[in-house]
Amino acid sequence: MILVKTIEHLRLETERLAQGKSVGFVPTMGALHRGHLSLVEQAVAENAIAVVSVFVNPTQFNDSKDLERYPRTLENDLKLLKPTGCAIVFAPNAKEVYPEPDTRKFNFGKLEAVMEGEHRPGHFNGVAQVVSRLFDMVEPNKAYFGLKDFQQLAIVKSMVKQLQLPVEIVPCAIIREKSGLAMSSRNELLTEEQRENASIISETLFKAKELMGQKTVQELKEWVVGEINRNPFLNVEYFDVVDDEQLQTVKSWNEENTKVACVAAFCGKIRLIDNIVFN
Ligand code: AMP
Repeated sequence: MILVKTIEHLRLETERLAQGKSVGFVPTMGALHRGHLSLVEQAVAENAIAVVSVFVNPTQFNDSKDLERYPRTLENDLKLLKPTGCAIVFAPNAKEVYPEPDTRKFNFGKLEAVMEGEHRPGHFNGVAQVVSRLFDMVEPNKAYFGLKDFQQLAIVKSMVKQLQLPVEIVPCAIIREKSGLAMSSRNELLTEEQRENASIISETLFKAKELMGQKTVQELKEWVVGEINRNPFLNVEYFDVVDDEQLQTVKSWNEENTKVACVAAFCGKIRLIDNIVFN
């Protein structure tokens, strides 16, 4: 496994190791956990080589405190990546990725008007900026994204379509802790007590799926928010049940689309997201 920090070095090593065969790519912001590693393992299994990027992208943070606080653990990330069979770790600095400020404005229409897009203005524009740049640098055949960031996946798919990029986007299942809590780099910022209580979020989503037939969509939404907020450590920012393509609010269980229940909640100062497919 090789660590590269410049685009030039990345291109040289990718060409040398892939020899024209398929390149699988996993973009990350580091502080890796089993969720990330499952994506990497799939990329290794399905391609001649796998490239993992570790870059905390400043343009997708709408809260400078959140950017400052974000965990950075490259040494440990390299240790975790080595046994996966990943060939190249690309860990550029901000100047390498953005030699000039990126002023591009993407338009994702309805997709970015809801949930994360609504509560984190500019977030998905930053995601699209960095992912499009990384795709340009790595030139992957396949890129792997976790369903944990369900809306991000929809945004990336839309960006690939808009820019007509020759890359296949591969969605990967959510990996959870034993408690059910969706793995996240941000979990590292929770105290032990907060972490125990944070599992109420996924627990409530699982219960909600069972209650689906017994309540209207509106009743279920109120129930979920009430259940989570009942815990003194947690505070819901939004909960919605949306269709899996346009991400628009589902009004009735009779709608024929696939429904996904998505939540964002604060545990202390730490913002956590999770989701579950309802059918
Ligand atoms: P991040 O480093 O948080 O930007 O995440 C990098 C990639 O890993 C994204 O595609 C995430 O959706 C994915 N990911 C993060 N956590 C998980 C998880 N618990 N299960 C599956 N994929 C995940």
